[in-house]
Amino acid sequence: MVDASPDVLIVGLGPAGSRAAAAASAAGARVVALERRSESGRPVQCAEFVPALLDQEVAGLASVTAQAVNRMLTFVAADAADETPRFPGRMIDRGAFDRLLARRAEEAGAECRYGASISGIEADGTVRAADGTSFRPRVLIGADGPRSRVGAAVARVNRAVVETRQVTVPLLRPHDATDIFLHADYVGGYAWLFPKGPTANLGIGVAPEARALLTPLLARLHRRLIGEGRVGVGASCLTGGPIPVGGRLAARAAIGGMPVLLAGDAAGLTNPVTGAGIAAAVLSGKLAGEAAAGWLSGRPGALEGYEEELGDLFDDALARALRRRRAVLACYGGGGAPGAAALRAAWIAYPQYWAA
Ligand SMILES: Cc1cc2nc3c(=O)[nH]c(=O)nc-3n(C[C@H](O)[C@H](O)[C@H](O)COP(=O)(O)OP(=O)(O)OC[C@H]3O[C@@H](n4cnc5c(N)ncnc54)[C@H](O)[C@@H]3O)c2cc1C
Repeated sequence: MVDASPDVLIVGLGPAGSRAAAAASAAGARVVALERRSESGRPVQCAEFVPALLDQEVAGLASVTAQAVNRMLTFVAADAADETPRFPGRMIDRGAFDRLLARRAEEAGAECRYGASISGIEADGTVRAADGTSFRPRVLIGADGPRSRVGAAVARVNRAVVETRQVTVPLLRPHDATDIFLHADYVGGYAWLFPKGPTANLGIGVAPEARALLTPLLARLHRRLIGEGRVGVGASCLTGGPIPVGGRLAARAAIGGMPVLLAGDAAGLTNPVTGAGIAAAVLSGKLAGEAAAGWLSGRPGALEGYEEELGDLFDDALARALRRRRAVLACYGGGGAPGAAALRAAWIAYPQYWAA
């Protein structure tokens, strides 16, 4: 006996899950979405930058925007900043953004349940929630983030991750750029200062082996920026979390004859160099919801089409980022470390990154 048999069960109401729920509902499917938090987007675990292109996908982005970003400044070790003059985007209020998308899913007809965590998936496709309820959907969508339980049930696991730590600091003068800090000490990652009006998100990501250095390295960068008169001493809103950096996982599987699709971080769509994954979650979530509804309405190729579309959209960029990240990590072999040229070659601001 199962408690509910929706057409589509979605696990996770982050950007990928909400977009999947909205798309599948809008196409006529009966959708239930489960979110383990008591509301979407809280606590925030994000630096909150999205590229300007996201405007084309998400209407009303202005209503959750903290400020515009025009440029990127890249600081390599102690060198003066290199400017990328055109790097348009928005700093969003990520909590409000996630809730906006979740609200749209409900408006499209999805039943969104909060405080509802899945605890297991059985071999016949029965999905068990932690509160004891069970579901047997016709299609299951895993949009449950970097440590996806749905992904684990079909052996799709983000094995390579970057660990992060971020605080919010007072910004002493207005800033219109995302600042990126590259340093050999930031093994397999980088640090950032992203402005949000009177405050900024100051964070760092490193490979798990260097996790113990996250706190001292972030404190060191904070001291440097205080010394430069750019930020104040206070630090609040401590956050962090893993970012997948291993590239795309196969996003289509089955359990007991039930099709399973993965979207967003659960499908490994974050960029392994920049860690950006919001836009990919938004896009892949919508495509997963459409594919599930298409398959349910008798288009047998819809699920396969989803996997192909993900490949077309993301594989080139992910493959390039993986190559660049591996090249810079190789510099640490034999006790070495990347110099400024190697660090620049592995960052998107430089032509070397985009060379063949
Ligand atoms: C510190 C940090 C900074 C970042 N900065 C940026 C940035 O500036 N720009 C950018 O583009 N990307 C950034 N990212 C990456 C970005 O946050 C992710 O790529 C994005 O959130 C992926 O969306 P998603 O919907 O796939 O997953 P998530 O946003 O992780 O949503 C997954 C949801 O599933 C829920 N869930 C998990 N397990 C279960 C379960 N068992 N049952 C029910 N629900 C469950 C979670 O509570 C969550 O709400 C950052 C990540 C980190 C950690």
